[in-house]
Amino acid sequence: MSPRLRNQIRQRADFRCEYCHFPETVTELRFQVDHVLAEKHGGQAVLSNLSWACFRCNSHKGPNMAGLDEDTGKMARLFHPREDVWTQHFRWSGSRLVGKTSVGRATVAVLGINRLDVVLLRRSLMAEGIRF
Ligand SMILES: [Zn+2]
Repeated sequence: MSPRLRNQIRQRADFRCEYCHFPETVTELRFQVDHVLAEKHGGQAVLSNLSWACFRCNSHKGPNMAGLDEDTGKMARLFHPREDVWTQHFRWSGSRLVGKTSVGRATVAVLGINRLDVVLLRRSLMAEGIRF
């Protein structure tokens, strides 16, 4: 991937993870270009299929396309940063991310967005005035 394309993706994302909104400026963990639809499922390396993701979200997501919505017990597709509106699927409850829809809940679960260590890290960053 060209540095130019990578930079376009970072800027479009406002230097945040497009899933959990973690700002890349406050972590030393490398952010990654995510294939929303994984290459193994035919996803292409084009802007409409690429997003900017933190290491944690990207490594948990892997090639997954769906997950379990614990509220309904049914499978739901994952959030699509290019086609979905973040605020329609997620909201913050303190430093925990809450899925407002099946898509949001499945995404929070599969990506491990509310793992205790991350919730505690977000809490301390939020207390320092870092916005998510
Ligand atoms: Zn993330």
